[in-house]
Amino acid sequence: MNINKILNDITLINGDTKRIDCPECNGKKTFTITNNMGSIVWNCYKAGCTVSGGRRVHLSSDDIRKSLGKTVSETRGIPKFDKPEWLVRDTKAIAPYCSEWGLDADKLGLLYDVREHRVVFPVVHNGHTVDATGRSLGKRLPKWKRYGKNDLPYASGYGSVAVVVEDCVSAAVVGSHVYVGVAVLGTSLSETHKRYLSQFSTAIIALDPDALPKVLGMAKELRGYVSSVKVLRLTDDLKYRNDVDLTNLTNMIGE
Ligand SMILES: [Zn+2]
Repeated sequence: MNINKILNDITLINGDTKRIDCPECNGKKTFTITNNMGSIVWNCYKAGCTVSGGRRVHLSSDDIRKSLGKTVSETRGIPKFDKPEWLVRDTKAIAPYCSEWGLDADKLGLLYDVREHRVVFPVVHNGHTVDATGRSLGKRLPKWKRYGKNDLPYASGYGSVAVVVEDCVSAAVVGSHVYVGVAVLGTSLSETHKRYLSQFSTAIIALDPDALPKVLGMAKELRGYVSSVKVLRLTDDLKYRNDVDLTNLTNMIGE
């Protein structure tokens, strides 16, 4: 497989994920390739096909500007998001929080809210920062703050399997080259959430075990949008990386 040729043939701006036929096994649209801040990652999801890899590419200044949300107004149909100036890159300020939860600030593009002392998770879709969610690092309320008006969920990772979780930290923890962690920030799904989730082949709902009736209702609701919907019975939030939960999650995909 020649990745250079693939990269030449497709346009992959920062934040983009493209799904194409696998050049190795010819699986129909099983090959995904993603550009996350210049980190190109590809993968085939067909059983038995092991093609995967990653490499870094140079980000143009345009890409960087886009990832910081300055050109969101170009995105059709999505409310414009003007990233407040006080959301800055400051890995030092958010380092204690990131190490507490094992988050890679650079990889996740995390920002720091200078004014309110928050760690900020940018909501990026199709290469555009469409919103941001900030977690208070001090006593300031609300604990979680949404900066814009966009209803798209915070998502992290690549792949065709969505793991629906409660908060951004869990989404960032579970997000990988296999899973896209999708934070719905609650136990109900909006129309936008459902439409967003419809792009995945499988959705695994991994929410607070105390909310099981709601979770089952959510699963039922989602079956009209995603062909395979599963419920992961958690012992704890995924952000705590409980071994049992992570093993159960892995087994779920193996089924
Ligand atoms: Zn393949």
